[in-house]
Amino acid sequence: MRYISTRGQTPALGFSDAVATGLAQDGGLFLPETLPALSAADLARWEKLGYADLCFEFMRIFATDIPVDELRAIVAKSYTRFSHPEIAPLRRLDARTHVLELFHGPTLAFKDFALQLLGNLYERQCRVRGQSINVLGATSGDTGAAAIHGLLGKPGTRIFILYPDGRVSPLQERQMACTGADNVFALAVDGTFDDAQAALKEVFGDRTFSDRRHLSAVNSINIARVLPQCVYYLYAWFRLPAAERANVEFVVPTGNFGNVCAGWLLQQMGVPIAGFKVATNQNAILHRLFTTGEYRVGDVHPSLAPSMDIQVSSNFERFLYYSLGRDPARVREVMQTFKATGAYRFEKFDRGTFSASRCTDAEIQGIIGRVYRQHGYVVDPHTACGFKELNPDRISVVLATAHPAKFPDAIRAATGVEPTHPALEVLKPLPVVKHRIKATPAAIRAFIDQHAV
Ligand SMILES: *Cc1c(COP(=O)(O)O)cnc(C)c1O
Repeated sequence: MRYISTRGQTPALGFSDAVATGLAQDGGLFLPETLPALSAADLARWEKLGYADLCFEFMRIFATDIPVDELRAIVAKSYTRFSHPEIAPLRRLDARTHVLELFHGPTLAFKDFALQLLGNLYERQCRVRGQSINVLGATSGDTGAAAIHGLLGKPGTRIFILYPDGRVSPLQERQMACTGADNVFALAVDGTFDDAQAALKEVFGDRTFSDRRHLSAVNSINIARVLPQCVYYLYAWFRLPAAERANVEFVVPTGNFGNVCAGWLLQQMGVPIAGFKVATNQNAILHRLFTTGEYRVGDVHPSLAPSMDIQVSSNFERFLYYSLGRDPARVREVMQTFKATGAYRFEKFDRGTFSASRCTDAEIQGIIGRVYRQHGYVVDPHTACGFKELNPDRISVVLATAHPAKFPDAIRAATGVEPTHPALEVLKPLPVVKHRIKATPAAIRAFIDQHAV
């Protein structure tokens, strides 16, 4: 399988090269050259597989340049640090409503599903190419923690994660800064997430430096962040009664569109799924798009669901590519207009099987309380957005993207319950090791020069 850019001006690459490259040279995002068609026979064969085996069967279609035995071992290893035997258990709340718990990984958020695997792919790449790798990223919370735990202690790798000092939750900071691993650097930036992100862009833009240090970006546009996420949709689909499967709507708390994009790709591969609900918080760029056909950036207003506080949904470009008839020239035109003017209005926007909802902070609080009273089940503020208005004609599977214990203040206020999780309790007495740094390219380069492998 080869990977092409949504903007069509980069030669196609194999899986490992597309993963190592991240963003395509032409500014586009990588996608499989052709989407495989999963047949009813494939599905029947896979139905009873455990999570890691299913993931292996799925990923071997895409990672064709990795020897099969090696891939099997990498995938198996990637799901050993999940604390639930089913990895992604589906929980039934009532006859029409299920929750897919994606928070049993090491950092208690769904991002572990892809980043545990990506960490192992990076490790293999170091070994195969005989090169070290310095991974660099900026985070407003969950991504950084999940990326760090994907690379923890891996030989030949260093990971540097920048985050706005004082603006990630104390528990998120501990997940990054209490690992004790000597290949991990939590960099507390004096400034906002956007400052960190902008400085980082410049560091990557300095090709001499980034080549010399073998820098690699960890962000949600990497194709290896998306494909492994298809697997839990399929796993959940198999857990539903056969008669209900084709009527399922997956409800996905959404920021960068990476998670829901994975589910949608699976549907495009032929798995009968009725639809997807894009559940946003008050930062509702995608809600606006799916309801009005206008894609327009807004200001980010910090919310109770901070991992969805985004201005631009970068993975949306993948969906765009298909919805514009796989025409990279059209993708370039839309993205250029959007970049230049901050908006694009689609003449006729075909939203396909997508719907969307938007949830204010007050609604998030109300929903956490209501779901707790109705079902005795505690949802985190991101997951709460998914419960805004479930479609009564469908079987809903709401993706629970984070464990409630990551957001104790919001849960306590809404339910009176104090959520805890052993993985977070063990962090509390540990020393926080963070490096304060200015949000400038020079400061970041100097730090990397001192600490890189
Ligand atoms: C990252 C994240 C999201 C948003 O996912 P996208 O793939 O960016 O749409 C939602 N909830 C939680 C808890 C997250 O960490």
